[in-house]
Amino acid sequence: MRAVLSIGSNLGDRLSHLQSVVDDLGARVRTVSPVYETDAWGGVEQDAFLNAVLIVEDPGLDGYGWLRRGQTLEDAARRVREVHWGPRTLDVDIICCHDDDGVELLCSESDLTLPHPHAHERAFVLVPWLAADPDAVLSGTPVADLLAGLAAEERAGVRRTDLILAL
Ligand code: ATP
Ligand code: CA
Ligand code: CA
Repeated sequence: MRAVLSIGSNLGDRLSHLQSVVDDLGARVRTVSPVYETDAWGGVEQDAFLNAVLIVEDPGLDGYGWLRRGQTLEDAARRVREVHWGPRTLDVDIICCHDDDGVELLCSESDLTLPHPHAHERAFVLVPWLAADPDAVLSGTPVADLLAGLAAEERAGVRRTDLILAL
């Protein structure tokens, strides 16, 4: 399936942690967004994140396949789960998945919610995604429209950097 992945890091060598995802997924990566710096979300005091969005495709991976792949990469970055929404070396979230006909996968299991329940309200997801795909659509709504509906300060909190993820 085709998937949109949101990747973030705010601990250790942030860019290397993001790059490890691109390196692991290799030819499955269709598009890489620019890298953004974002103030942390969710009320825990912590350093800023680097965030990016990847558009990936693998006929052999479904929603759970992408979830497990992301968790393997989080483990490889030695992510330790301590505080919910706290600092982490690597976070890989599956934003949405589409089948070959372009139909969006819906999932509401306890360990996998698709589309990601917070994606539509997070500028650090929507800004990179729109940069990677100007025609992006989430559950029928253009990502550009979702972004336009967010508060200006939420959008301003996502700052483009000169950092590059190498394909
Ligand atoms: P948030 O999901 O609000 O961004 P988080 O990324 O900090 O929070 P984690 O601790 O990384 O949350 O993940 C908690 C659990 O969320 C994971 O164990 C995973 O099973 C589940 N999960 C549910 N839906 C998704 C999804 N679409 N992408 C990634 N993980 C998901
Ligand atoms: Ca997350
Ligand atoms: Ca996560």
